[in-house]
Amino acid sequence: MILFAGLCCALAQGAEAETVVHDIRIGIYNAKTRLVLDLSERPGFKIFALANPYRIVLDLPDINWRVPSGTARRKGGLIAGLRYGQFQPGNSRVVMDLSGPGTVGKSFIIPGTKGRGPRLVIDIRKATRQAFLTTLKAPRKAVAPRAKIPLQAKVKRSPLQKPLVVIDPGHGGIDPGAIGVGGSFEKHVTLGMAHQIRRAIMSLGRQRVLLTRSRDVFIPLRRRVAIARAAGADLFVSIHADSIANHRVRGGGIYTLSENSSDEETAALAAKENRSDVIAGVNLSGHDDEVASILIDLTQRETMNYSAHFASALVPELRQLIHMRRKPHRFAGFRVLKAPDVPSVLVELGYLSNRRDEKMLTSAKSRAAIATAIARAVNNYFKNPKP
Ligand SMILES: [Zn+2]
Repeated sequence: MILFAGLCCALAQGAEAETVVHDIRIGIYNAKTRLVLDLSERPGFKIFALANPYRIVLDLPDINWRVPSGTARRKGGLIAGLRYGQFQPGNSRVVMDLSGPGTVGKSFIIPGTKGRGPRLVIDIRKATRQAFLTTLKAPRKAVAPRAKIPLQAKVKRSPLQKPLVVIDPGHGGIDPGAIGVGGSFEKHVTLGMAHQIRRAIMSLGRQRVLLTRSRDVFIPLRRRVAIARAAGADLFVSIHADSIANHRVRGGGIYTLSENSSDEETAALAAKENRSDVIAGVNLSGHDDEVASILIDLTQRETMNYSAHFASALVPELRQLIHMRRKPHRFAGFRVLKAPDVPSVLVELGYLSNRRDEKMLTSAKSRAAIATAIARAVNNYFKNPKP
């Protein structure tokens, strides 16, 4: 549903005209929950709703987010969760998770005055599920999400080329991932880590490295897999850090794909990591393959053996540096590990909800040591990749 279609060209011109958002505030009134953005200038904007779960998405041009730390934790009234960041080039967004069905009553811009920039106001009112669903049916021309990416065949590497390792920094842009006790964002930790792993592998000089993202941008899970296959990856390593309500829990773990989860905790972790596209406000309805259970064929089964082999090379290297969880190698249906022909592992480096883990993962020095350990494991794997 478009409640207001802003200036058509504002989205495209975002790169040049840098709009700053200084704050995102939530106000709770009797009949409505109000979201207010404090801006440097008047932007074009679009608002639409997504179901399952109930979300309202505000699309904006490229935004320079200069909001206070802790903004991503704000909630209240009908807004159960809030995220902001880049969705795709030229298109930043705010995604609101609703605690129940709600519709946008009004949305408007209060012009700036001397000393105060314009404010964008969105009023959300409680609605019935039926009323919410009706808003979805209204004709809509939202910014097209980039979720529909066909899985192309994997490119074959010439025997003269060094093996290619694709490092995948988890989350990014609109999807912050876990938020640490000290306010760190998983998306920043994983990106910093990925750059250091890249440097460590390059300095050993035996493999080539490609990052799925080298900036703070959102990339759908399926695209991450597609990037690895299109580049002809020989190994895919997705980097993450977890968060949990119990702040005493700490430690790293290594995960590979399987139809059946090794345990309930890992199944829940996979479900959480698989939510990235939902978190970013991608409309997944009609993408049955996105939510279907993991189907494993013979090629994938062979690849899974290689993945497990790399996981077993990685455990002893990481164990020297970071506290590893009991049973450090576990399995579940992680969507980002679904490339049928690229051995893939997901590394959870620790818990940002634990102060010691967060400190370690945000320190350049310990990150460099972890990167070196991962590079060594990669090197050992390619010396003897046969499971
Ligand atoms: Zn993650």
